[in-house]
Amino acid sequence: MYDAIVVGLGPAGSTAAYTLAKAGLKVLGIDKARFPRYKSCGGCISTKIERILDFSIADAIEQTVYGATFTYKSERAMDIVSGRAVGHNVMRNTFDTLLLAKAKEAGAEVVEGVRVTGAADNGSSVSVTTADGRSFTGRVLVGADGASGVIGRELFGLNPKEAAVSITAEVPYDRVKTDYGRKLFIDFGGIPYGYAWIFPKKEFLSVGIAGDAIKVGGRIKEYFNSFAGTHAALKGLNLDERIGWTVPIYYDGAAPSVKGRVLLIGDTGHLVDPFLGEGIFYAIRTAKAAAEAIIDTMMGSTKVDLAPYQAWLEKEIYPEFKAAGRLSDLVYNHPRLWYSILEKDPDIMQRFYNVIRGEEDSDSFYNWVYGKIRSKPWKVIRRWIDSRFLPV
Ligand SMILES: Cc1cc2nc3c(=O)[nH]c(=O)nc-3n(C[C@H](O)[C@H](O)[C@H](O)COP(=O)(O)OP(=O)(O)OC[C@H]3O[C@@H](n4cnc5c(N)ncnc54)[C@H](O)[C@@H]3O)c2cc1C
Repeated sequence: MYDAIVVGLGPAGSTAAYTLAKAGLKVLGIDKARFPRYKSCGGCISTKIERILDFSIADAIEQTVYGATFTYKSERAMDIVSGRAVGHNVMRNTFDTLLLAKAKEAGAEVVEGVRVTGAADNGSSVSVTTADGRSFTGRVLVGADGASGVIGRELFGLNPKEAAVSITAEVPYDRVKTDYGRKLFIDFGGIPYGYAWIFPKKEFLSVGIAGDAIKVGGRIKEYFNSFAGTHAALKGLNLDERIGWTVPIYYDGAAPSVKGRVLLIGDTGHLVDPFLGEGIFYAIRTAKAAAEAIIDTMMGSTKVDLAPYQAWLEKEIYPEFKAAGRLSDLVYNHPRLWYSILEKDPDIMQRFYNVIRGEEDSDSFYNWVYGKIRSKPWKVIRRWIDSRFLPV
């Protein structure tokens, strides 16, 4: 009997296993993959990660970035760069392996290369079955098996369609003429309700595009090809090795992440920022909070009560995501107008970098931007007229 069984050992699962094992609990982590394993991802982690980890991730950082070059449909490039770092770019195979090593070091028992096929909450315990015919029993179950995992779908009825769809490709840097330096590259307007990106690493450029699943309507490959075909540095390259994946962004009305002896963290609980699609930070943050709730209940009484984790999500995370959702509506429903506003007022992005750094919350940023727009409607009309000159 384990104190906790963690299904999935990405950033969320490994962090939960690490935190629980460090507190002296008997933990089992199971992942269908063997690490290092590839994960389709831009791999940009906002610098606020440094505030919540109690160990260094420096060995996994391939590039620290200070801002971005923005374009609208690959035109009208504009650099908005800060004197202070905004994010760290990692390759997920290295980064996730580092987190898993920390969990093992802390004493978590780990099974790699074995798929979990089913799980149940039996009232007084939880059980998990695996594809190789084994079964494990524990006091609580942590669902961390990501966007397409079994725990969220089977035990919580989460809807995998409430997500963004994406395509990514890793392009060896030496095949590209442009030096992206210490900047991200972000393109607006090339996909409904989303954006395209190029994130530089040491040896690769992570190239990708993501947009709202319903609005994209099955045309994700078309949007990716169009971006890759018009972006100067990618033109003519063979980007056939690409991967499609879903980004399970937070949506209003998502089911709670706690049920009896089971809780969900990271992508499994749709705990991804809906504006940027940033999920690594939130996977780690929600894993830590969930682990702390488990530790509290195990140390405190014989009755398992995971409700404090749900209360924490409602207080600390959902309001942030709701504000990010409002920001998404503003930006992605009107990308041309947004781009035109940004061209005239790049300080908006400089201030948004503070949100990424965790120095300001999304709600106050949204209210500031919205207030700015409302207080000077004639300026917005002028920007709207300017935006007519951007590519349709
Ligand atoms: C195209 C794209 C770009 C992104 N870019 C960024 C970015 O730049 N920055 C950012 O912060 N976020 C980004 N994200 C989001 C980020 O990748 C996720 O939010 C993050 O990986 C969540 O971590 P996790 O541990 O919850 O899930 P995952 O990393 O998905 O880990 C889940 C683990 O569960 C395992 N698993 C699945 N099913 C089973 C099973 N049945 N049995 C056992 N194990 C199982 C998997 O093998 C995997 O290791 C991006 C996502 C996509 C798709």
